[in-house]
Amino acid sequence: GGNPLLSLVIRASVWWEPSLVTSEIAPSLITSEIAPMAWHSSGSTNTDLVANLCKNSLIKSQKVKEAMLNVDRKHYIGDSPASVAYRDTPLSIGNNATISAPHMHAWCLELMELKLGNRVLDIGSGSGYLTACMAHIVGSNGHAYGIEHVPDLVKKSRSNIATDRPDLKNWTIVEGDGRDGLIDHAPYDAIHVGAAASEVPFKLLQQLHPNGGRLITPVGKLDQNLYVFVRDQEKIKQHRITGVRYVPLTDLQLQLTKE
Ligand code: SAH
Repeated sequence: GGNPLLSLVIRASVWWEPSLVTSEIAPSLITSEIAPMAWHSSGSTNTDLVANLCKNSLIKSQKVKEAMLNVDRKHYIGDSPASVAYRDTPLSIGNNATISAPHMHAWCLELMELKLGNRVLDIGSGSGYLTACMAHIVGSNGHAYGIEHVPDLVKKSRSNIATDRPDLKNWTIVEGDGRDGLIDHAPYDAIHVGAAASEVPFKLLQQLHPNGGRLITPVGKLDQNLYVFVRDQEKIKQHRITGVRYVPLTDLQLQLTKE
């Protein structure tokens, strides 16, 4: 779907220069108010977990709440035991990858500001959890694309979503290197990156919808920050949200051979 003319314009557009990026602290996202509550939202059931995320103001909107109530984390945790499914911590899903902590999923979903009908991209889709939440929120007139480079995770995430939400049809998980984005379906209303790029990923800014497209991404090596970039035609506004710790957005071979 989408507007073919708009896609063409994006493909032909200039390379983003760092000088086009302006920096701004998001006033509604004061880190110190939210950070102490992170990691303390564990529950014994999915409903319980979501209730705690709401209580701790990590979930703020009805649509994020409904998405997380309707996507059950127990289906996305790989070989981890069911007893830890609703802990507010990342869990290993094999292949040196993790499913992110629920508070990060909640936080990033809020920052995406998704609307019905949006076309969205989840880079490093891993377990498929967030791609499913995004598909739930954008509805049947929208579409959520996930891109993941580990073949095993591509396969497992597809089956995770199909098991959890056989009713959801508006999603596609693509196997590939997410550092290039996914030009075939650009532009996107929102792009989420689930792994940390060492530098601002300018390539991805080009794939945002010129009218308000949002990129949510961790940036940095050891010292990482979560950023939101909002595109307004040729300009990009950059908001730093908070310090974070993500696995790197990297080479497939480097990731799989890591100790
Ligand atoms: N949001 C996901 C996060 C998974 S961890 C979840 O909660 O399940 C980050 C993922 O990024 C891993 O699955 C890893 O394999 C993937 N990844 C890292 N570098 C990548 C790259 N260059 N291209 C695509 N995927 C990548």
